[in-house]
Amino acid sequence: MADLTETAARPADTVPSPSPSPAPADAGSEALGCLRRVFGYDAFRGDQEAIIEHVVAGGDALVLMPTGGGKSLCYQIPALVRPGVGVVVSPLIALMQDQVDALRALGVRAGFLNSTQDMDERRLVEAEFLAGELDLLYLAPERLRVEGTLRLLDRGKISLFAIDEAHCVAQWGHDFRPDYLALSALHERWPDVPRIALTATATEATHTEIAARLQLQGARHFVASFDRPNIQYRIAPKNDPKKQLLELLRTEHAGDAGVVYCLSRKSVEDTAAFLAQQGIEALPYHAGLDAATRAANQSRFLREDGIVMVATIAFGMGIDKPDVRFVAHIDLPKSVEGYYQETGRAGRDGLPSTAWLAYGLQDVVQQRKMIDGSEGDEAHRRRLGAHLDAMLALCETVECRRVQLLAYFGQESGPCGNCDTCLSPAETWDGTIAAQKFLSAVYRLARERRQKFGAGQIIDILLGKKTAKVIQHDHDGLTVFGIGTDLSLAQWRGVVRQLLAQGLLAVEGDYGTLVLTDASGEVLGGRREVRLRSEPERPVRAAKSGGSGSAKRAAPADLPAEAMPVFEALRAWRGATAKEQGVPAYVIFHDATLREIATASPTSLDELAGVSGVGESKLAKHGEKILDLLTELRTAAEAEAGG
Ligand code: ADP
Ligand code: ZN
Repeated sequence: MADLTETAARPADTVPSPSPSPAPADAGSEALGCLRRVFGYDAFRGDQEAIIEHVVAGGDALVLMPTGGGKSLCYQIPALVRPGVGVVVSPLIALMQDQVDALRALGVRAGFLNSTQDMDERRLVEAEFLAGELDLLYLAPERLRVEGTLRLLDRGKISLFAIDEAHCVAQWGHDFRPDYLALSALHERWPDVPRIALTATATEATHTEIAARLQLQGARHFVASFDRPNIQYRIAPKNDPKKQLLELLRTEHAGDAGVVYCLSRKSVEDTAAFLAQQGIEALPYHAGLDAATRAANQSRFLREDGIVMVATIAFGMGIDKPDVRFVAHIDLPKSVEGYYQETGRAGRDGLPSTAWLAYGLQDVVQQRKMIDGSEGDEAHRRRLGAHLDAMLALCETVECRRVQLLAYFGQESGPCGNCDTCLSPAETWDGTIAAQKFLSAVYRLARERRQKFGAGQIIDILLGKKTAKVIQHDHDGLTVFGIGTDLSLAQWRGVVRQLLAQGLLAVEGDYGTLVLTDASGEVLGGRREVRLRSEPERPVRAAKSGGSGSAKRAAPADLPAEAMPVFEALRAWRGATAKEQGVPAYVIFHDATLREIATASPTSLDELAGVSGVGESKLAKHGEKILDLLTELRTAAEAEAGG
């Protein structure tokens, strides 16, 4: 793969090492010194170093890096190293306060300007900016349409412009924001200030559009591998989604934070209520809830440990909570891009995470129907259809999910060892005869009875079931009645789903009735073989120690038993501290850092400083507390062992 596999491997989180650092001489070591001192990390990942050097030297950059790849440091460190204030343009107004709090916790002087502030608050930040008392200033894009903001920026010194979520400038992307179009003006007004645009989504088309609209043709492009090796991709046939979801949460993700995506608001409400009934802390999030409830639920999800957010896709962009341990879809996403973005919210911290999707016949029927009924012209519907086909191909593949996912973004890779098809290879069978039976039932109903039916009725006919509806329509008189008893109901549903996915059958009209396609004729005429994926008997579970390749590289060993209570105690301390300060728990320390403290069990401030994620400011703020807590735990453990 011609890319930055180091970005994917990401070993730095788990390796403790002594920190800084003699006085830096050149820009490179100055950046490294900053990484160690301020952020407490000891090495750059992947392309971070090259990007940072390029921007520090005044160059423009366009950065495509997956979620969790470490994009923020790519502009935060240059902003700290270069003279002046780094201006960060971001559409994520609701998250700015948290982002600024996280930087302040590191001792970085950060502020923001957006519509949530009153005049006094804005004045204060503006004064700090003019006085040169800020390292970073976050701005909502609409602020840049206000002449007053532009004049304010003129009066201060700007070190760089960072354009976060840069795909928002792409009209064909799914998050287009008209305010982003104004960002091309930055270049005209401040030609000497370097610009860095960053995004985690980009098919080739989006990538090109970002470069053109932001006038970044002269910029250096940094394209990382889109692989997220710590995410385990699994796609299961859907039978009872709520029960399947509950099983996943109970057996693999008890107490973990996660997101459950549903297609409709109603299904969000139902699912959240169901999980809550089962004793799981689940909250709903969709565009139909009032703004205050949405904000409150989002805030709890970010601030507390172990909340499950049940949401429509309205939830999630920019949520930088690092410890989302799973993303579950109980309905089929509309495109591979959407699926990749949504699942990408899991495991930003690089620790093992699950992306689980349940999908069934009904999803295919429903989405085809939605496309048929959608507004817009034929070309638009064809595009939607193509998106769905690619998503279905990913669901039905018997090959590695990751290989297929990355191929969608134009990146080649080999079997990953950390997806369901790698962990438990899917079997295929010759479904030609089954397909012929089903298609001829559709054909006979149309031909002999001038009737169309949905999957359920046709399967009943094949299974020879004398239901009321079968008798009412006299379907037991058809020659195909009862010719399909060799397969079970579930198997037949699998057959129909895959015929739909392969375009050998089509859905028509409001009732999800089935009709033949041109390709159906080839199957009926015996000119085309149909290979089908067997429905797995038992669901694949996370294989913690199994797997090979990238899975192994990413997953740090589980905590040793003796470190577990220490980790839990540290987490409890973190929760209390975060609450006291009114910031999200991860602003205090990330899980990965707490895990390392629990295993390394440092006994001095020096040792503690060697832990990844413990920089100068956090060491000064929390160091003594943590050492006290560790001593207390050690004493208690010894007392217990002794008596
Ligand atoms: P992105 O914005 O690309 O999704 P972030 O900037 O939020 O990613 O970084 C993801 C996580 O990785 C964060 O927890 C961040 O602190 C951590 N991180 C980034 N760079 C490094 C590094 N060089 N060493 C260790 N951790 C890092
Ligand atoms: Zn795989």
